[in-house]
Amino acid sequence: MTIVAQLENVTFAYRDQLAVEDVTLSVKEGDFLGLIGPNGSGKTTLLHLMLGLLTPNRGSIKLFGQSIASFDEGERIGYVPQQATDKGTTMPVTVREVVTMGRFAHTEHARVTSEDRGIVNDALETVGIRALAGRQLSQLSGGQRQRAYIARALASDAELLALDEPTVGVDAESRDMFYDLLDNLNADGMTIILIEHDIGVVTDRANRIACINTNLYHHSDTESFVESDALAEAYGSTGRIVHHDH
Ligand code: ADP
Ligand code: MG
Repeated sequence: MTIVAQLENVTFAYRDQLAVEDVTLSVKEGDFLGLIGPNGSGKTTLLHLMLGLLTPNRGSIKLFGQSIASFDEGERIGYVPQQATDKGTTMPVTVREVVTMGRFAHTEHARVTSEDRGIVNDALETVGIRALAGRQLSQLSGGQRQRAYIARALASDAELLALDEPTVGVDAESRDMFYDLLDNLNADGMTIILIEHDIGVVTDRANRIACINTNLYHHSDTESFVESDALAEAYGSTGRIVHHDH
């Protein structure tokens, strides 16, 4: 079984602000990992470390068995950033162009063949935005833009999809459809890391759960998480306790 991402004793601070401390965690091929924790608990930072966007102060990180410092197969990873920090782009670029960029690692001198165009169309179809292919990326809703990023990852044959709170501001019905899409991709073999504030979504969809509050205080399969004290702690820390009057 391939280990997609492996972190050992990873610590990271922004100047003097400790954000992630001594985290050891591995993600296996085919996993659907839900990463949860309160605001400011280090979720985005941990994801950035795992994807090589930040360098740890201490500890080691491997992607697909390779040290992250020398990892150069970015096309194997699809990253859907947190919407709040993602302004899309001010460049005039269409949805089809963005998704086609996913093919560039596989083409010579970015020469797009009819086969590439077919792959791009399939990716747009899979995520349900083929009708929007000619639209400017900046003119999509947040949820549609997330789908465009997923389509780009599919076009690049990504094996790991990392998503940071992808459905914030997306209505409930679209959100369910979005998570059905992730389920289908996972069933087809895509490894998924999902940061999601709604613990119900995570326990429904993920097979592994990691809880972080600077330190990783729980990491297990979903069933063990649901039966553990970490569930109550996670709800408590996000203020999402369900109150019963009787
Ligand atoms: P989460 O995604 O769980 O909300 P973050 O990983 O964004 O948490 O942040 C973890 C901690 O690091 C917080 O205390 C946050 O204020 C701090 N932090 C995040 N980004 C920066 C940054 N660019 N510079 C300084 N501190 C940051
Ligand atoms: Mg975050």
